[in-house]
Amino acid sequence: MVARPGPAVTGASSGGTEYRGARRRLVEVLQEKGIRDLAVLRAVDEVPRHLFVPTGVVHRAYEDAPLPIGSGQTISQPFIHARSLEAACLTGRGKVLEIGTGSGYQTALLAHLAAQVFSVERVGGLLPSAREALARCGVTNVSFLQGDGTLGWSQYAPFDAIIVGAGAPDVPAPLVAQLAEGGRLVVPVGDREEQQLLCVTRRGAETVTEDLGAVRFVPLIGAAGWAS
Ligand code: SAH
Repeated sequence: MVARPGPAVTGASSGGTEYRGARRRLVEVLQEKGIRDLAVLRAVDEVPRHLFVPTGVVHRAYEDAPLPIGSGQTISQPFIHARSLEAACLTGRGKVLEIGTGSGYQTALLAHLAAQVFSVERVGGLLPSAREALARCGVTNVSFLQGDGTLGWSQYAPFDAIIVGAGAPDVPAPLVAQLAEGGRLVVPVGDREEQQLLCVTRRGAETVTEDLGAVRFVPLIGAAGWAS
C-alpha cells in the first residue's frame, strides 16, 4: 500500500493559513485608521493574535477591539498597539522594554520589530500562557520578569524604547532614567479611567513629549504607578 501525503497541517494551533484572511483585513483596518509604518503592519500581518486570546473569544481575535484575558486584565485594541509601536520608531535592531506583558501579543509584535525584548509583568499568573503562545509563534528573543515594571529593568538598561501597556498617574521617572539617548517611552498618563497616550523622547538631560491622543488602559500598579 502506498501512503498518500495528507493535507498540510495549518489551522488554529499553528497560526497557519486559517486566519490569514482575517489578519489581512485587520491590517487594512489599521491602515484605514492611519497606521503607516510598514514594519508594524507587517508584524500585525504575521503574528497570530488568535493564539493570545482565551478560547471563548477566539472568534473575535481579529476584530480591532480589546478583549478580556483573565485576572481582570485585557489584551489591548490592535490599533492602540500599532499606534504605540509606530510612535516608538523601532528599527529592528534595538533593545526594547515592555511593561505589562499581559497576553504576550504586543510582546510578539515587538519581537518582530526589535533585536531584543525585555518584558515585565506584575501578575505572575499571566506569564505562563504568554510564554507558551510566544513559543508557539517561534519567538526566541524575549526575556521575562515578574515584578513591578514601574521600576524598569535596570540590569539591561538603557533601552531604545520602552512601551507601557497600562495607565500611569504620571510619567514614571525610573523609566525615563532607563532610556538611551534619543530613546522613546510610550506611556498612557491620566486618571484610572482615561489617559493620554504620551511619547516621551530623551534628548540629553531634557525630554520632549508628544501627545498621541485619548486612550483607556487598565491601571499601572506599582511604586511609580497607582497604589493597588
Ligand atoms: N499589551 C498587553 C496589555 C495587557 S493589560 C496585552 O495586550 O495583552 C496591562 C497589563 O499590565 C496587565 O497584564 C497588568 O497586570 C500589567 N501591569 C499593571 N501594572 C504593572 C506593573 N507595575 N508592572 C508590570 N505589569 C503591570
